[in-house]
Amino acid sequence: MKKPNNNNGKPTSSTRIPAGVEQDGATVYKTGTYQMFWDCEYCNTPKLLGITHRFCPNCGAPQATEKRYFPKKGEEIALENHDYVGADQLCPACETANAAKAEFCQQCGSPLTEAARAKLVQDENQAKKPDSKKNNRLYWIIAGVLLLLIGGGVGIFWTKNVGLTLTAYSWERVIEIEDYRARNDNTWCDSVPTEAYSVSRKSEIRSYRDVPDGEACTARRVDQGDGTFRTEDVCKPKYKSEPIYADKCYYSIDRWQFSRSVTTQDRNHEPQWGAYQLKGNGGTCQGCEREGKRQAHYYLHLTDNGKKSYQCDVDEKQWQTVELKSQWKMSVGGILGEARCGTLQKLP
Ligand SMILES: [Zn+2]
Ligand SMILES: [Zn+2]
Repeated sequence: MKKPNNNNGKPTSSTRIPAGVEQDGATVYKTGTYQMFWDCEYCNTPKLLGITHRFCPNCGAPQATEKRYFPKKGEEIALENHDYVGADQLCPACETANAAKAEFCQQCGSPLTEAARAKLVQDENQAKKPDSKKNNRLYWIIAGVLLLLIGGGVGIFWTKNVGLTLTAYSWERVIEIEDYRARNDNTWCDSVPTEAYSVSRKSEIRSYRDVPDGEACTARRVDQGDGTFRTEDVCKPKYKSEPIYADKCYYSIDRWQFSRSVTTQDRNHEPQWGAYQLKGNGGTCQGCEREGKRQAHYYLHLTDNGKKSYQCDVDEKQWQTVELKSQWKMSVGGILGEARCGTLQKLP
């Protein structure tokens, strides 16, 4: 916490008095009361004091509330035991500032029942504060995301049509073979499968939680409208991230998993599944094999008059009937020229 100094370099009281809670949940502490300054506009005497000099000591002019300002750092004059009752009242007849409690103007004697309150001065040091650097960065991030979205949109939606000639067709069929054997795996120890064996434990970070870590405070100065200002600390709780540890279990487990694939491919219209032999007797034993997933792809190879080649994975029925040198059309990406195989159409 900063301790403002008065003229004599003596630190003022550093006691913090809780003074309320901001809308955003920040706690406000009052840290001191000081005199506002004002300059006499008639004789140009500067740095007159809001409480001590209700009238100019040089020419006797009354203090003009709208001429009050915050002192520079290091020039503050602290007020002990200041009894704050409210912002000054401005006499409706002669505009002289009167204390909030006064019933009649000390200058002209007019009643103050309808008097306006002194307008409060903003501390310029703080008015400009709201993290302009952070905001700037935020704007750049937003601009960048927008550009990416626009670019992505153009990349996705801008297409052009090309005429194509079929130069070849091909097929590929894949049979996955799985085998049964010991695998190494790991998981949090509260969810280890019952078949796991050779289990070892290790403490690792599982997640993080926010724990209170003191508070972050900023100081500010608030005009009280009676020739004084108060200093406040506005404090928000700070948090730090703290790891939560849990036991990770490393274990072995016997299970089926992909081990190899049997691939067949050719450039004709007679697709076939590959032949294979499975190890083991079809049961579940260490090293036994079984058939897994099957996949088939039927490709058309097309060219844009020799300029660019495209390959499209199409439906088997359509693929079976295509003829070499047949004419096709398709949309391709406007920027990268990538194939949009969903738009591929045979020309009559
Ligand atoms: Zn003066
Ligand atoms: Zn008056």
